[in-house]
Amino acid sequence: MTASLISLEQEKNPWLAAETRFDNAAEKLDLNEGMRKVLKSPAREITVNIPVQLDDGRLEVFTGYRVQHSIARGPGKGGIRYAPDVTLDEVRALASWMTWKCAVVNIPFGGAKGGVICNPSVMSDGELERLTRRYTAGIIEMIGPERDVPAPDMNTDARVMAWIMDTYSMHKGETNTAVVTGKPMELGGSLGRPEATGRGCMIVTLEALRIFGLKPEETRVVIQGFGNVGGMAARLMASRGFKIVSIIEYYGAVYNASGLDIAALQQHRKETGSILDFEGGENMDKAEAMFLECDVLVPAATENVITSENASRLRCKVICEGANGPTTAIADEVLADKKIMVIPDILANAGGVTVSYFEWVQDRQGFFWNEELVNKRLEEIMVRSFGAVIEYGAKHKVDNRTAAYMLALDRVAAAIRLRGIYA
Ligand code: NAD
Repeated sequence: MTASLISLEQEKNPWLAAETRFDNAAEKLDLNEGMRKVLKSPAREITVNIPVQLDDGRLEVFTGYRVQHSIARGPGKGGIRYAPDVTLDEVRALASWMTWKCAVVNIPFGGAKGGVICNPSVMSDGELERLTRRYTAGIIEMIGPERDVPAPDMNTDARVMAWIMDTYSMHKGETNTAVVTGKPMELGGSLGRPEATGRGCMIVTLEALRIFGLKPEETRVVIQGFGNVGGMAARLMASRGFKIVSIIEYYGAVYNASGLDIAALQQHRKETGSILDFEGGENMDKAEAMFLECDVLVPAATENVITSENASRLRCKVICEGANGPTTAIADEVLADKKIMVIPDILANAGGVTVSYFEWVQDRQGFFWNEELVNKRLEEIMVRSFGAVIEYGAKHKVDNRTAAYMLALDRVAAAIRLRGIYA
């Protein structure tokens, strides 16, 4: 399916978006029908119904999933989300996304994802722990350092990873830290992981700027989302000399043409709970801030913020997709017409999974790296991957997103061909 076949009503459907990009890349690679079927189908899926004793004595049953989309290039890798609206279809799509992301940065993982239908905001710590442990027991044959390595995602964190690691270890009769990543430092987490996604965004942006002949000090950046990814990207980019002219949150935006003092803005938010009314800048309409004239726009909040309705209004040279799926497939065509360079999500935000890979390596070695080494190795991988995508795009005369998908599909297909089909 090409983007032009997606109706405007369906524009924000993430599964159609994923399918469009897959089909587009598969077509350009001239992949045969059989290989397309293999690459599209999840290798393994499990549904578990998890009985949990609630604090009030009632017994409740929650439904959880784990999907391994591909294990062709290595163990499955991907987060576990806890949310009331988790569906098996969503988990499947996110698992395939992980396959392509790991392949673009060429780390030896396949793609996987997990989810449990629950509402963590109304659950006690004890209920969440019991849910996590029983879910882990339910999927235990599927996960493991050599099989499938979960990580945090929406509403799961280092504490949840510690419970999974402990449950897995208790079952196996040995302490096995490499079964999950995103763990607390005390249990084999990696230095540099909290900054990794934002740092990766900065590294690929620096590479893109070299193409435009721009120095960081001359570069105006607008960042949407001031959370883990956007906040870290802002902090690191500001310390590298970039001018962060606007930060956008869901409730408003702040602007300073000479660049915001990001550390001071973070302190202001800590004190007031908001980025607004910051004395180092002026408040701005959040709906307009994205269209400020700038060099780099970093959408690092949520999906579907750049659409057919607003893409033509953007006035940036580069879009660095910190969030997953911030741009719709129809908007891609508008951006291409405007000659805006897009650093696609599966490349731009892959710094997180790359340092997760480092965490897994360090756990398996039982030998931990200092932060400088983590950051240096992250930079090597991000620079190399950015170069590979640009080179692939130039060779095949396609945009960066198509190039990233083609590169990923090509690598996974090559692994499948080399392994052969076991019968
Ligand atoms: P987060 O919750 O820490 O931060 C998101 C921020 O965006 C919050 O401050 C939130 O208030 C703000 N926000 C939400 N909706 C908004 C809107 N419509 N307009 C403006 N601001 C809005 O989440 P995060 O971990 O930073 O993740 C952000 C995105 O990056 C998500 O798409 C996530 O899937 C993706 N991502 C995160 C990581 C990671 O390592 N954390 C890795 C890869 C991709």
